Amino acid sequence: MIRGTVVIAEDICKGCELCIEACPQESLGLSDKINLKGYRYAVLVKDNCTGCVNCALVCPDAAIIVYRQKKPTKTAGPQVEVPI
Ligand code: SF4
Ligand code: SF4
Repeated sequence: MIRGTVVIAEDICKGCELCIEACPQESLGLSDKINLKGYRYAVLVKDNCTGCVNCALVCPDAAIIVYRQKKPTKTAGPQVEVPI
């Protein structure tokens, strides 16, 4: 299972919401704050990004960088209780 996250250049963002519409996980939303251009900018609002890259592909200003990593897998086997 792939886990992802995004870094959004908030001062490049123009708040067009294309990335928000494109995200299948509904991971993105608009900040309540305003950037240097006077726009509410996109932010990660949920910790469920899968790194699918949809948001970065649709952003007209290339304001989004996506990072992906494999979710850590459990290496330990099932816990077995040993009678004393
Ligand atoms: S990489 Fe995919 S899941 Fe993550 S925020 Fe962008 S569109 Fe959503
Ligand atoms: S698509 Fe790009 S410019 Fe538009 S809201 Fe998302 S990050 Fe901002």
